[in-house]
Amino acid sequence: MTDPVITDLRRELEKARLALIDSQSHLAAHAESNAALHCATTVMYSPLHAKVTAAIGQIEHALTRTEPNEDQAEDYTTRLIAGVLADLDRCDHGRHAADPCGSCGGQSAGNQLLPPGRHIGHGVHANPIYVPQPADRWKPEAWRTPPAHT
Ligand SMILES: [Zn+2]
Repeated sequence: MTDPVITDLRRELEKARLALIDSQSHLAAHAESNAALHCATTVMYSPLHAKVTAAIGQIEHALTRTEPNEDQAEDYTTRLIAGVLADLDRCDHGRHAADPCGSCGGQSAGNQLLPPGRHIGHGVHANPIYVPQPADRWKPEAWRTPPAHT
């Protein structure tokens, strides 16, 4: 259950669940204020409130059923990240920067698209992400450290 599609679907289900919880609160408050307005002794919740409550339960059941197994999630993430990181220093001909490459004319020229120090993106708090030196690519903090020369 660690397929990226399932992860995306779970994220969308979670958003729907939160929206439905807000709707449920709104509908309940509406029903309770109507009861108070009419001095009723019981609150009559609408059929829509019941449908929203049922939908929340169904979403929670689906989220529980698709919960990733921790070992599988770690294994998938590790394989994904390690596989991509391991390839980031390869030259256009597929040779690691430290290896000989006949097409580069001696040692591999490495990845010319992502030279160390290049600003390649941002994190969730707009913190920049930089390509670290090849020796530091396995250190998570190195991707968040600005290059020394800028
Ligand atoms: Zn090459």
